Amino acid sequence: MQVPLLDLKAQYETLRDAIRPEIEAVMDSQQFILGPKVEGFEAAICQYTGAPHAIGVSSGTDALLMALMALEIGPGDAVVTTPYTFFGTAGSISRTGARPVFVDIDPATYNLSLDALEQCLDACTREADGTLRLATGERVRAIMPVHLFGLCAPMDELLALAKRHGLFVIEDAAQALGARYPGREGSRHAGTMGEVGCYSFFPSKNLGAFGDAGLVVCNDAALADRLRALRNHGGERRYYHRWVGGNFRIDALQAIVLGIKLPHLDSWSARRRENAARYHAALQAAGLLPLLGFPTRPYADSGEPHHHNFNQFVLRVPRRDELCAALSEAGIGHAIYYPLPLHLQECFADLGYGEGDFPEAERAARETIALPVYPELPEASIGYVVETLARFYQPGR
Ligand SMILES: *Cc1c(COP(=O)(O)O)cnc(C)c1O
Repeated sequence: MQVPLLDLKAQYETLRDAIRPEIEAVMDSQQFILGPKVEGFEAAICQYTGAPHAIGVSSGTDALLMALMALEIGPGDAVVTTPYTFFGTAGSISRTGARPVFVDIDPATYNLSLDALEQCLDACTREADGTLRLATGERVRAIMPVHLFGLCAPMDELLALAKRHGLFVIEDAAQALGARYPGREGSRHAGTMGEVGCYSFFPSKNLGAFGDAGLVVCNDAALADRLRALRNHGGERRYYHRWVGGNFRIDALQAIVLGIKLPHLDSWSARRRENAARYHAALQAAGLLPLLGFPTRPYADSGEPHHHNFNQFVLRVPRRDELCAALSEAGIGHAIYYPLPLHLQECFADLGYGEGDFPEAERAARETIALPVYPELPEASIGYVVETLARFYQPGR
């Protein structure tokens, strides 16, 4: 049996009749960049997430970069984030000229550890004017939590820390559109809790475009105006530039595809959660649960149904690399998110981090594996994956 990690064709089959005429209409109009289709999609995202402002952009990475630019974060500044994430998180910080500062993760959720974050901030110097300074001299301006694998970071505590230290919060919600965080202020959408939230519509994300695309949401109207200008080379009217921005625009074609898919997102996420629950039951029946680190679901009992969207289904497993080989042999798709934490990346060598600095991120990089969880995954495939795991871990059975 072949079980792909992700099967985008299965989803497309259900939507092709809705999508093709709309794409045809854009081709007939020959209006490809921004325009009413993009505005319509932005309005749909506002409606869906409850965010007052949405700005469609060219990718999730550009969304993060623009968020930092809009908050005037650059040389001499620092932004605190996690080393266990996709490269774009910290890469965008570096691209502004600011310094990424890493803190370790919580081994249960893989999100930023609150204790580590607090320790990092407490170790900074607080100057008379409120400036928070690193030992290396940079001014700490923001925290960039990542809602990894579709599970929100502990935002109540994180927002309180940010407020206490006078820092912005930029949410990397690239994997978490549609996940809700049941916090003190009720359930809120991933991406809508900090100053700015960033989404990615890379095709393999839970809401995927037909190419690259992303989006920024924010609560503040002036910040939204600035983001909209930055998307278009920092000009509020053509050829007059108030800021230096970039070409961060989204295409009408992507907005159309995303607008057609968005109404299905919650039901797709529900299927992902059901698949995770099926894995749980099957692994338990096979006696494998005690052996594996099954994903924790810290908000599962909150009454919020969308407490995790399982953009990835990531287990902690013994003999990970051998298991990968066995899965490949059995025709089962899998992936490692992420094999090398960001503090050990070659391009960040000048930040001065080394092996052992963030032991939980390093351990996660060695021990975790992502298994197929996409909404259309047949139940029989889950059975086959679990059977394959059982044969690997209990060969004598
Ligand atoms: C995918 C992803 C990004 C970048 O999004 P792109 O659209 O691929 O640029 C950033 N952060 C995280 C956590 C991601 O998973």
